[in-house]
Amino acid sequence: MDRGRVIGVRTAGAGDGAGELVRAGRVVLATGIWGPVLAAAAGVRLPMVDVQHPYLFTDERPELDDTPIDMPIVRYPDHTVYTRRHGRRYGLGSYAHSPLPLEPSAALGGAELPYCEGDFGTALGEARQLVPAFREAPQGRRLNGVFALTPDELPLVGPAAGLPGLWLAEAGWVTHAAGVGRHLAHLLLEAGEPVVDPGRLAPGRFDHWSDRKVRETALGNYRGIYDAH
Ligand SMILES: Cc1cc2nc3c(=O)[nH]c(=O)nc-3n(C[C@H](O)[C@H](O)[C@H](O)COP(=O)(O)OP(=O)(O)OC[C@H]3O[C@@H](n4cnc5c(N)ncnc54)[C@H](O)[C@@H]3O)c2cc1C
Repeated sequence: MDRGRVIGVRTAGAGDGAGELVRAGRVVLATGIWGPVLAAAAGVRLPMVDVQHPYLFTDERPELDDTPIDMPIVRYPDHTVYTRRHGRRYGLGSYAHSPLPLEPSAALGGAELPYCEGDFGTALGEARQLVPAFREAPQGRRLNGVFALTPDELPLVGPAAGLPGLWLAEAGWVTHAAGVGRHLAHLLLEAGEPVVDPGRLAPGRFDHWSDRKVRETALGNYRGIYDAH
């Protein structure tokens, strides 16, 4: 930063040394669940919460092979459960448990944490009963995956309020990914049409909310992620 504006990105140096400064007129922060840590270093609050989420695979299944996946993702909205194929396995996730926030930390080496028995109660056990393949197949790997939620379940895309030069593409899901990229390109290049009214995704739209309200509202959305909107 220089005189109150972001002027580039410094790469990690060898050992404790500072790396190279890559200068840029606009820097886009798109670091997923690590976004709040990096933004805080520049004095910017990101209105998002990192949450933990249980996911389960079957073992490899004899009826599945490596052909391209032509099955849809199946959702059970009444049970907040979803399932899909991954190559030779099926996967299953559930939102039917109390939301479990995670404090973002630079020390976190990945968005996949070990699965701890008890963290998610009976969510995966109950979800397994819904899906025939999971009732029959031996259980495979379980994981605790971390992703980000905002108070309105929409990503944060656009210039960061109050810090010239910093742009954000944060809290987007796979579901939003293509739209986030296109919307960001429109804003940065001032070309084409915006995907939505830029105000709907503006990172500063919760600036008047307290940290507590951001957190409670975002966490309150967790169980309803698969509700029909
Ligand atoms: C178990 C699970 C199931 C999910 N299911 C779905 C689903 O069904 N549908 C859906 O839409 N979404 C789903 N999601 C959410 C989705 O996967 C994420 O929201 C999405 O991948 C986030 O993308 P991103 O590009 O913002 O962040 P990421 O994909 O995490 O990318 C951020 C990148 O920034 C890098 N980075 C971090 N810090 C730095 C730094 N200091 N310098 C340089 N690089 C850095 C990281 O290494 C990472 O590569 C799921 C998530 C989980 C965990």
